[in-house]
Amino acid sequence: MYNHKQKMKIVCPRCGRPTGVMVMPGQTVLRCFPLWCKYCKCESIVSFDGESQRSWSPEPTA
Ligand SMILES: [Zn+2]
Repeated sequence: MYNHKQKMKIVCPRCGRPTGVMVMPGQTVLRCFPLWCKYCKCESIVSFDGESQRSWSPEPTA
């Protein structure tokens, strides 16, 4: 049921590179998480709904 190996890295929405932030699909939920990217040297707000990563935008287009 709980799988320690089932982790994935949150990807920077700006550059698409994996950051050091790990989440566990099915376990972790992030909402408006301030994600620091060491490559861009800036912060992006991301969300993770438990299955996939969502880029958070102040003006939703969908
Ligand atoms: Zn980046």
